[in-house]
Parts: sequence; C-alpha cells; structure tokens
Amino acid sequence: MKSDGHTHTEYCFHGSREATEEFVIRAIELGFDSYSFTEHPPLPGEFKKLLPYSNQTVDAIAMKEKDLDQYIKEMHHLKNKYKDKILLKVGLEVDFLPEHISWTRNLLNDYGPYLDDSLLSLHFLRGVDGYRCVDLNPEDFKEGLIDFYGSYDDVVFEYFRVMDEQIKVDLGPFKPKRIGHFTLYQIFQRKFFETSYSHSNIALQKFNQLFQLIKDGNYSLDFNMAGFHKPHCLESYPAESIANLCLSLGIDMIYGSDSHSVKDVGRGYGFFEKMTAAK
Ligand SMILES: [Zn+2]
Ligand SMILES: [Zn+2]
Repeated sequence: MKSDGHTHTEYCFHGSREATEEFVIRAIELGFDSYSFTEHPPLPGEFKKLLPYSNQTVDAIAMKEKDLDQYIKEMHHLKNKYKDKILLKVGLEVDFLPEHISWTRNLLNDYGPYLDDSLLSLHFLRGVDGYRCVDLNPEDFKEGLIDFYGSYDDVVFEYFRVMDEQIKVDLGPFKPKRIGHFTLYQIFQRKFFETSYSHSNIALQKFNQLFQLIKDGNYSLDFNMAGFHKPHCLESYPAESIANLCLSLGIDMIYGSDSHSVKDVGRGYGFFEKMTAAK
C-alpha cells in the first residue's frame, strides 16, 4: 500500500496554489494507493495577534476561517470523483497551540466527523514579541528564538517540552493520532552547525523519553521528506538515525511528502521505502 500521509492543496497560501486535482492526478501517476489532504486549518484570531509578522506573512500561514467549510466540501468532492483510482483521505494539519486548547478541541469536535486522517504539528514557540514560527527563515529563528532562549540547544529543549505537552494533551475524541515532522527544529540546522543536529546530546536524551510517550499513546510519526529539500536541513524529519530508532521501537512511520506544489508529490519515496523495508 503506497500512501502519502501529509500533503497540501490550493488552500495553502504559502504553496504553489496549483489546483488540488493536479496533485491528485500526479499521485495517481506515481502509483499511490492512498493520499491524505492535510491542509493548515485557520488559526485562532487571538493567536494571530501574538505573531510579530506582517499581515501578509500571517495571512499566508493558514487558510481563513471562511475557507474551511469549502475546503472540506471540495476535498470530499475529489475523494468521491477519484474513488475508483485512489483512496483520498480528507484531513488537516492541526497546530498544537498550548494557550488555545479549548479552541482546538472545538475545531476538532466540529470538523472531526468529516475528517479521515489528520496530523498534529508544532510550528510555533513562544519567542521575542510573542510567538515565532519555527520554520519561517533562519534570521527569524535566530532573532526570535535563539536570542530569546539563549542557545540553539535551549530552543530545542523548549520544543521538546511543548512536544511532551502536545503528546499528552486532551484534545477530545478527534485528536490526530499522527505527529507532523517531529524534528522540524532542524530545518535551519546547517546555518548554525557544520553537520546534522540529530546527534546532539540534548536531542538524544529527549528522544528516548518522547518516543516512549508516543508508543504508549499509540501515536504514529509523519516520516516527512520536506527537510531534504530545505537547503539548511538536507535530512528528513526525523533524520535517518532517529527514524531507525523509532522503527526499532515499533513506532509506525508514515510517509509524508509534505507537498506544497505538484512537483513535490512523491518526493523521497525511494528513501522511505529503503528505510522501512524489512523492518
Ligand atoms: Zn505548509
Ligand atoms: Zn507543517
């Protein structure tokens, strides 16, 4: 069963805005049996006020509230249209926002019945002047997060602290069972280090603890290929050695292209196959 568990659509304003149907056609061409739409749902208005970015940047992070119903409707339409060719799953990449737990629970309770497959991702940390995206650009990572916490290690320490909360939090019966790009903090690693950050002591210590929580909670991980294509990352999320650790613990690793444009569909699938073969 060839599946993609993490993809974006024309409802993503930092993506290519190509028609979602084009992504689907490409997935069929590449022989995918199943393909999950996991678009960024709207962010709470109160949270957006805490992002110290231009309106244009904030608006591109996630869809507007008014688009969500239309998104769900359209994805279900495609699911039905292509049902004989590919299993399309309708989902969301839900953000974990520690200060907006009930807002998120309400969103999931309202839309959960219409969702087949979703992700829970951590894209934001508290930082200079409010909250900062972990993945905006290296300068923002430095000024907004490293300078706020004191060091790269301290940013990662905070990321893991919030991740711990994310795994344990009660978001109701529709809480996603898969964690998106578990090591997203590595996105700009080569701006700050000569090699991969995966082997740092702080990371290795926390991994064991968090993987146990993931296993006990029956969560799976998005084995996300986007990092290979980020010039300062050049690795999957999580990286090969960490993925091997997950696999040896029996954690389910689901391939995710994290496609934001049609050309991304299927990227890194060969690597995923090699990693998960005979495991
Ligand atoms: Zn995105
Ligand atoms: Zn993401």
